[in-house]
Amino acid sequence: MRKRIIAGNWKMYKTAEEAKSFTEEVKGRVPVSGTLEAVICPPALYLSELVQMTKGSALGIGAQTMHDTKEGAFTGEVSPAMLAEIGVGYVVLGHSERRQYFNETDESVNKKVHAAFEYNLTPIVCVGESLEERESGKTVELVAGQVKQAFEGISADSAEKAVIAYEPIWAIGTGKTATAQDANEVCGAIRKTIGELYNEKVADHIRIQYGGSVKPDNIEELLTMEHIDGALVGGASLEPESFLKLLEAGAHE
Ligand code: PGA
Repeated sequence: MRKRIIAGNWKMYKTAEEAKSFTEEVKGRVPVSGTLEAVICPPALYLSELVQMTKGSALGIGAQTMHDTKEGAFTGEVSPAMLAEIGVGYVVLGHSERRQYFNETDESVNKKVHAAFEYNLTPIVCVGESLEERESGKTVELVAGQVKQAFEGISADSAEKAVIAYEPIWAIGTGKTATAQDANEVCGAIRKTIGELYNEKVADHIRIQYGGSVKPDNIEELLTMEHIDGALVGGASLEPESFLKLLEAGAHE
């Protein structure tokens, strides 16, 4: 059985004090369950301290983005080697906000997926369609294309350790969630694409999250779906109680 993964994407929110107090409050209360992996993705500035604070706990730490090379003259960037050195375990790649505001492309995402595996970081690869694309019936084709490009040249052994987050752009931060059935249909299409790129085993092992206005009151239904193995959560991951409720839903058998 696939272990669920629920990850909080804090985006550019929280002061250092708020980040620490959240982590203090949550780290010892992550439900102990063989079925759940819990991760928070704070702003890069707090990663090092939160990794230290969560050592020995069940709360993993992820970055929200990174560069694709070890080092270089890339002002303002953070490298995969730096993340790995300080003990970060995960990295969100290709989030739609990165694609929209910071010129992230399928090609740059692919380079970063390679870099993540090179440094033993688990990539959370985001894909998803805009409202226009959904309305014109292109969702599955578009998302499958994003997945193919993100995994270009990635070995089967690596791919099965990846996490894919299906996040319809129109559902992010809008309060509009895809219905559980619609989300499952696209997640199923992603799994099928992975099966075609690799094999049944990889398709069966890879974890696929849904993201976009996931809240404590809609996560349970999403998690009952065959192809949804967790959630990537923005707004509802910012408050300890709300995040813990999401984790509790994920810890149910
Ligand atoms: P949201 O964000 O939960 O606030 O919609 C999700 C995301 O951007 O990952």
